[in-house]
Amino acid sequence: MAATSALTLTRRARKVNRLLAERYPTARCELDFRTPLDLLVATVLSAQTTDVRVNQVTPELFARFPDAASLAAADRADLEDVIRPTGFFRAKAASLIGLAQALVERHAGEVPPRMADLVTLPGVGRKTANVVLGNAFGVPGLPVDTHVGRVARRLGLTESEDAVTVEAELCAMVEKREWTMFSHRMIFHGRRTCHARRPACGACPLASLCPSYGIGETDPERAAALVKDPDAPDAPPARAGGVGTTGPTAWASAER
Ligand code: SF4
Repeated sequence: MAATSALTLTRRARKVNRLLAERYPTARCELDFRTPLDLLVATVLSAQTTDVRVNQVTPELFARFPDAASLAAADRADLEDVIRPTGFFRAKAASLIGLAQALVERHAGEVPPRMADLVTLPGVGRKTANVVLGNAFGVPGLPVDTHVGRVARRLGLTESEDAVTVEAELCAMVEKREWTMFSHRMIFHGRRTCHARRPACGACPLASLCPSYGIGETDPERAAALVKDPDAPDAPPARAGGVGTTGPTAWASAER
C-alpha cells in the first residue's frame, strides 16, 4: 500500500484539531499553577501520576516553598512528606531541589522562557519545557505525552514511538499558533475517549478519519458508556502503549 502523503496527513491533523476543539471546548492544562515555577514544579511531579493527585499537593507545596531559593534550600525530608502522594517522592524531591538550585545558580531564580535554556535544567526534557512554554509563557509548544503519542499513532499521523520525533512530525502538520491547544485536545481525547485499553470508537468524533477505527468498542451505546465527561478530572496514566514508560525509575527519564 502506498504511503500516505504529507499533504493528506497535514489535512487529517488539522481536521482532527478542529473536531477535537468542538468536542472539548474546555480543553486546557489540567495542572493548577500561578507562576512559571509553579508549572515547572507541577509538571515534574506529574510524572507517573494524575494531574488531580498533583493538584492535591501543590497548594501546600507552593505555600511552603514559594520561590526557587526556598525550594533549593528545602529540607529533603520535609519536601518528601509534602509530595509523597504523587509517588516516587524521594526521586522527585531530589529532582526538584536540583532543579531549583540550577535556577538559582544560573537564572537568578527565574524560569527561563526559552526551550534552549529549559532543556539544560536537570530533569527537564522537551515535554516539560513545552508545557511551561505553552502554558506559562504563551510560546507555542506541543508537548507529547503518552496520550498524544498513542492517539497520533492510532490516527496514522505518525508511526514513531519516540516523543521527540512525534513532536517534530506533528509540529510540521499543525499550525504553530495551534500547537499548545492541539496537545491539550489530544490529551483530553486520550483521557476521555481514545483510552489506552478500551477506546470508545463508536462514540468518537474522529471515527471517519481514523485508520484504527474498530480497535475499540464500536457499538454506539456501549461506546458512549466508556466516554468520560469532558470536564471530569483526568484518568490514571496509561501503563502501556504510549510514549511514557513504566517502572520505578522510569518517571525521571520518560521524556528524555
Ligand atoms: S476511532 Fe477509535 S482509535 Fe480512532 S481516535 Fe477514535 S477512539 Fe481512538
